Amino acid sequence: MRVKITLACTECKQRNYNTTKEKKNHPERMEIKKYCKFCKAHTVHKETK
Ligand SMILES: [Zn+2]
Repeated sequence: MRVKITLACTECKQRNYNTTKEKKNHPERMEIKKYCKFCKAHTVHKETK
């Protein structure tokens, strides 16, 4: 069961990535380190609704 999620930078709150996840494997909100073009750095991105 794949669900669409949006990943937002925790530094500037910009929503930078749309992706999908396997809800079975990640029932919690995901946190991934990704490049944020607004911060111009790798920051933690959190799943948002
Ligand atoms: Zn950012």
